[in-house]
Amino acid sequence: MITRRQFVNRSLAVTTGVTLTGTIQASLKSKNLPVAVSTWDHGVPANKEAIKILLNGGTALDAVESGVRVPEADPDVMTVGYGSFPDRDGHITLDACIMDEKGNAGSVSFLQHIKHPVSVARKVMEDTPHVMLSGAGALKFALEKGFKKEELMTEKSTAAWKKWLVKSEYKPVINIENHDTISMLAVDKHGNLSGACTTSGMAFKMHGRVGDSPIIGAGLYCDNEVGGAAATGHGEYVMRTLGSFLVVELMRNGLSPMEACKEAVMRTVRTNKDLNRVQIGYIAVNKTGETAGFSLHEGFSFAHSDKEGTTLNKADSYLK
Ligand code: ASP
Repeated sequence: MITRRQFVNRSLAVTTGVTLTGTIQASLKSKNLPVAVSTWDHGVPANKEAIKILLNGGTALDAVESGVRVPEADPDVMTVGYGSFPDRDGHITLDACIMDEKGNAGSVSFLQHIKHPVSVARKVMEDTPHVMLSGAGALKFALEKGFKKEELMTEKSTAAWKKWLVKSEYKPVINIENHDTISMLAVDKHGNLSGACTTSGMAFKMHGRVGDSPIIGAGLYCDNEVGGAAATGHGEYVMRTLGSFLVVELMRNGLSPMEACKEAVMRTVRTNKDLNRVQIGYIAVNKTGETAGFSLHEGFSFAHSDKEGTTLNKADSYLK
């Protein structure tokens, strides 16, 4: 039986040539539960909504759903929900998923015309025998459940698409505008954990492209015995390592949230030669409410909330 420290050092020393001691920025320890953590600057208003629910005794599941609905509805957040950047054919197609403390999961992908895909994902989880609905089927289900069909393109997203069409070059720029997928993890006062993830995916993607965000284990994973993890960035790289599942499994084996996020990033580092134009970032929380964020390139931020308030934190990164 190897100790936790041996496990950490073994996995990282073999793969990166460094041991962890002294290389890890402190992760955030919440002052008791509840706690919420979410990706990017737009995590701040999302977290404020979530922590309000948690401090009033609400469940982690309600908190993460309500929290991520804030950027979904905000047309100035152009990578989530209403007013997003479209795909290269001018369509906004949305991906989202949710997991509760019992290990239940719901997900929608390639969903059009619905402002709150995370709430449709929750309905898939609660009202169907399935985990994932996609495209026209997901839309049909949403309409049957009473969601409103809406035009999600705004003047701003239409103008951005027209500008992109001039050159029609697909060149994602890392960290651009600092508002990507919103992923949120929360532990409520009973110690129960849930997570949610919602996005319009990579701007100007191919029509039909689905990223990591609605894939359980890639964009999000929660295990009530261990903790939760969620991803942002270039989904293709997260999908290839099933990154969020990996982070949770590493925590199960004794790594802290920070150590686990770092090792998940290192998996991508080890298997890819040119990562100059690729960003990935992970957030994680364990059962005691310790949270962390870590990314490949610098520039990733995450919001942390507990009863002391909400902070926006710069994530440590592999490349500085
Ligand atoms: N992970 C998302 C995707 O690939 C986008 C992002 O978080 O930046 O669809």
